Amino acid sequence: MKKKYIISFLFVLAMILFSGKVFGFTVVIDPGHGGGESGAIAQGGELEKDLNLKIARYLRDYLSDYDVTVYMTHNGFSGGELEIFDRAIFAREKNADLVLSIHLNSTETGTANGAEVWVTANTSLDKYNKNMTAFGNKVLGNLGSLGIANRGVKTRLRSDSTDVYSDGTRADYYGIICYSMRGCKIDYGVISPAGAVPAKVEAGEGVPAAIIEHCFLKGTDYKFIDSDADLKKLAEADGKAVVDQFGLKKKKQKGNTPFNDIYLDDWYHDAVKYTYEHNLIKGYNQTTFAPEDNLTRGMLVTILHRMEGEPYVPGVSKFPDVQDTEEYYYVAVKWATQNGIIHGYNNGNFGPEDPITREQLAVMLAHYTQYKGKYEKQTANLNSFKDANKISSNAIEQITWAVGVRVLEGNSSKYLNPQGNATRADVAAMLYKYCTRVK
Ligand SMILES: [Zn+2]
Repeated sequence: MKKKYIISFLFVLAMILFSGKVFGFTVVIDPGHGGGESGAIAQGGELEKDLNLKIARYLRDYLSDYDVTVYMTHNGFSGGELEIFDRAIFAREKNADLVLSIHLNSTETGTANGAEVWVTANTSLDKYNKNMTAFGNKVLGNLGSLGIANRGVKTRLRSDSTDVYSDGTRADYYGIICYSMRGCKIDYGVISPAGAVPAKVEAGEGVPAAIIEHCFLKGTDYKFIDSDADLKKLAEADGKAVVDQFGLKKKKQKGNTPFNDIYLDDWYHDAVKYTYEHNLIKGYNQTTFAPEDNLTRGMLVTILHRMEGEPYVPGVSKFPDVQDTEEYYYVAVKWATQNGIIHGYNNGNFGPEDPITREQLAVMLAHYTQYKGKYEKQTANLNSFKDANKISSNAIEQITWAVGVRVLEGNSSKYLNPQGNATRADVAAMLYKYCTRVK
């Protein structure tokens, strides 16, 4: 292993050892109630547990497009009987960054409407509290744009007098907020038989949690839950808030090529697709393109030769370092030499194994265009590039042409990088531009 890889390896190992998890964000979704516990009943007779489960599944699907690991505390078929405490422990054991308990609201008497989000008021984890309040407001904002009234973000203190057991611990489902946090081991004695407290309860930082009461099950809110499409909208409101508050990134989408290392939003995706489909640049194998690898001068000449239909040319190579007739590039080099596409170095060699620079690539394409009879002299202001002084004096005309026909372009910081090695992605991009803008 090279030194820098050893250092990277040790770094990753350290991250795993010290954090208990590799990188990435983990969400535990808790479909409220379940199993024999149905929750409340909706206006149309639906059970809250079933509606919660649907919202939870839509939320999981929504998040599956993002770089996040999602677990559900239960799937409705098994585990629905989980106690609140066990749901929280599940989240802790997954080293989750967030627990979302999905609910719909109800009142014993009368009607009420609107959404509310409950978050912890445990000040021992202040950084989470602030995040969670902001998060709750985002959820409510998103639900608000569906037309659901905003009842606010609410916090639950252990000292709150309602819904607690006689010893003061949380008795209702709001407990998932508390149990997810560090330092709530006392509650264990209430939920389960008194006695030993498992060490895992105290381990870790705890997990920030929120209970989302999306709307009410009856009355004017019923229209927000009376179809699957509506439930999906509720899930999207939650999902957008998670993505926004915790800065989740979209998962890289595999591109429209056979290569596993080419993604849809790579700047060179279309170029790799085009050059692959036109049989100009092949992959290393069926699944690997290696866009960041360099490409040699011998390979580039071979590609140009391939563009030309691989014509055979008689004679021998004039370059001392291209004498092995078995080399894959031997005929291509002869062809390119005879047609004025390559001239070789001043020392007489061609350097087939040297990585090709961006400037050399542009010059070869200019010569190839001349050979094709398509060359038209261009004007372009090379001084608009910050590194214009790096362009070789004997390549000015060809670089001007390449810039003029937009085969060679600078980066967003206005650097042309003429002496930089062309990566396979660079070559694909320049050939793609050549074929679609010049040819
Ligand atoms: Zn509920």
